[in-house]
Amino acid sequence: MNTVKTRCLIIGSGPAGFTAAIYTSRANLQPILFEGMQPGGQLTITTEIENFPGYPEGVTGTEMMDQLKAQAVRFGADVRPDTITSIDLSARPFIAMTDQDTRVEADTVIIATGASAKYLGLPDEEKYRGMGVSACATCDGFFYRKHPVAVVGGGDTACEEALYLSTLAKEVYLIVRKDHLRASKVMQRRVLDTANIKVLFNTNTLGLFGEDGVEGAHLVRHKGTDKEELFDIAIDGFFLAIGHHPNTALFEPAITLDHMGYIKTAPDSTATNIPGVFAAGDVADPKYRQAITAAGMGCKAAIDVERFLLEQE
Ligand code: NDP
Repeated sequence: MNTVKTRCLIIGSGPAGFTAAIYTSRANLQPILFEGMQPGGQLTITTEIENFPGYPEGVTGTEMMDQLKAQAVRFGADVRPDTITSIDLSARPFIAMTDQDTRVEADTVIIATGASAKYLGLPDEEKYRGMGVSACATCDGFFYRKHPVAVVGGGDTACEEALYLSTLAKEVYLIVRKDHLRASKVMQRRVLDTANIKVLFNTNTLGLFGEDGVEGAHLVRHKGTDKEELFDIAIDGFFLAIGHHPNTALFEPAITLDHMGYIKTAPDSTATNIPGVFAAGDVADPKYRQAITAAGMGCKAAIDVERFLLEQE
């Protein structure tokens, strides 16, 4: 077993983690950042990012994360590909273990583990996972060129996924449980104006069917009302875009969560209930969940760490 010591351990490699790494390395805290199972975070599985300031022509998620990483490394951040598998937050220094059997002793921790895609909870999602069921259109859309597919959800993610898929697939059904889309007006308009996207309002998914992969979905319109109607659609791909849940399992029960399961931070601060442990980005933000706000929180967490360490000295 190999042991490393750091003044600041950063867990997670999305915009929050890398921004925290840029700031803490410039403050000479020699941070170690562990990238985890999805290096670069959720942005690496999104399409074009059009709303991050400074990119007037847009930028791909992967490109932006590569640049953030390069910027952190330039100032001396130690960026490692390992995943943290356990962490003891009961005393300082905090002790974490990685999947490569590295023991990390850290004076402070910034949790920036982000959030993961939600599934509907249907047994068929498990049955057909990797055989037609996906939560990432940009990762898997390519496999459905000229085939019919469905996207579940009515938010910005669902619209973005449907629009992306519409450029590849033959037809895209957007399965929306309400009678309206929750997405921003501009995304709604783009979806409604796209000829090969068919929006199915007031519709829920009951199950999937197919021999060696998804061949269709059983749907219900106006569920539980006297207008209830069961019908099937023929699809080869079923994409989930119904939101995310924060990745907090590693820190429970030590870290206090809010009623929605996000890490609770002190007002106007990134401090958690444990002195020396800070949280930034989607894992602590049920409200904004944007790349730019995550980056802002990463910056705040780094400054909070710096002040915390100064106070300790
Ligand atoms: P949202 O929480 O905004 O939307 C989730 C959608 O999934 C809603 O339409 C919701 O329905 C639906 N849904 C949830 N659970 C179920 C279920 N069990 N069955 C069927 N439908 C379900 O999540 P998003 O991931 O879309 O967006 C998260 C945040 O990120 C938002 O703030 C969004 O604006 C932002 N975002 C911005 C983008 C951009 O600006 N380019 C791109 C992507 C996301 P209902 O409406 O009925 O609750």
